[in-house]
Amino acid sequence: MIDLFSDTQTRPTAGMRDAMARAEVGDEQSDSDPTTLALCARVADLLGQEAGVFMPSGTMCNLVAILVQTRPGDEIIVDDQSHIYNTEAAGSAAIGGVSVTALKTPAGVYTPEAFADAIRPSARTAPRSALVSIEQTTSFSGGSVWALPDMRQIRDIAHARGLRAHIDGARLLNAVAATGIAAWDYAEGFDSAWIDLSKGLGCPVGAVLCGRQDFITEAWRWKYRLGGAMRQSGILAAAGLYALDHHIDQLGRDNAHAALLRDRIADAPGLAIPAGAAQSNILCFSVEPLGVMASAFAKACLDQGVRVRAIGSHQIRATTHLEVDEADILRSAEVIRAEATRLSGQR
Ligand SMILES: *Cc1c(COP(=O)(O)O)cnc(C)c1O
Repeated sequence: MIDLFSDTQTRPTAGMRDAMARAEVGDEQSDSDPTTLALCARVADLLGQEAGVFMPSGTMCNLVAILVQTRPGDEIIVDDQSHIYNTEAAGSAAIGGVSVTALKTPAGVYTPEAFADAIRPSARTAPRSALVSIEQTTSFSGGSVWALPDMRQIRDIAHARGLRAHIDGARLLNAVAATGIAAWDYAEGFDSAWIDLSKGLGCPVGAVLCGRQDFITEAWRWKYRLGGAMRQSGILAAAGLYALDHHIDQLGRDNAHAALLRDRIADAPGLAIPAGAAQSNILCFSVEPLGVMASAFAKACLDQGVRVRAIGSHQIRATTHLEVDEADILRSAEVIRAEATRLSGQR
């Protein structure tokens, strides 16, 4: 089977497993695991931030960033297709007592103007707008890459109006691969930013949340409270260091593979592929013109050995990663085309 369900499907390579087995370890909880400390320093440096903390997941990075930078009754501003809004089990509300304004967007990218409009004027009756999050790249809306000037404008508006600015950088390095803009350039001046190790980088576990030292001190307190403090986490951190040494180049190939898939299915009947699709390693398209549910389309592809993800009623998401090569993409395109052709014939 060719698995385009998600870049989380990657399994550690032999080289990565070897690095994990050889990792020097200590006790993460008391800051004495040398490999974890090295990973945190490396990612903080990559993002141009003062410090970093190793987390079991990206979800915990988002949650902790929200918990540190808001108070109960505050409001955060995100896009309506964001991971924070849709797939974190409302952690910010359940644990932080925070409400969410989700800006309506076509592909996960809102404008600085829409953001500025969403900030609440200070009033006794209104929630306090406390934090804005940008998902670079976007996930469920199809891997859109935010333009750097827009990110900076949003960051500056946030700071001018008393909000903190956060980057959900699960796939920030895919944006770097797509644009050549450095990760630290994207993250400059943001109060918190993180990258996921368990997506395109191919690690089994983990993410690193970065920010100023005082932010990280508080982030650590929440990580501990939430049960995220670890012991010999160097075994996991070693996978992260290995990925930063060996898997960065792959992200560019992943992006190219998504674009190739887009091009190969562009004229298939009944598929609505938005302009600007596949800016990074994710391709989203609609099967609505075929008159079938996304779940039925995904099932039809799976029967032919290609696993894609149904999102909502009509969206299909295909994600490339290091276990998918060019031949797999060409084969996937054939299957998707064939299913689209067959289903359009049944209309
Ligand atoms: C995957 C993802 C997360 C959550 O990361 P996990 O490591 O799966 O918890 C958050 N935001 C985005 C944009 C993601 O793609």
